[in-house]
Amino acid sequence: MPIFEYRCEACGKVFDVLVKSSERNQEQRCPQCQSAKVKKVFSTFGVGSSSPSKPCGSSSTTPCGGG
Ligand SMILES: [Zn+2]
Repeated sequence: MPIFEYRCEACGKVFDVLVKSSERNQEQRCPQCQSAKVKKVFSTFGVGSSSPSKPCGSSSTTPCGGG
């Protein structure tokens, strides 16, 4: 079963939730302040990075705006 990480936008608490396939659409609440304003975050190597797409222009083989 997948474990999703959530961050509370109210208090900043980050918590993990083990989500069953039948409960994946269920609303999550912050265990600290009970706020429902939580956002799912994904565990990545770079903590603090929030760019969803891969960086362009970092290599000559992947130029920016390439079509
Ligand atoms: Zn909270």
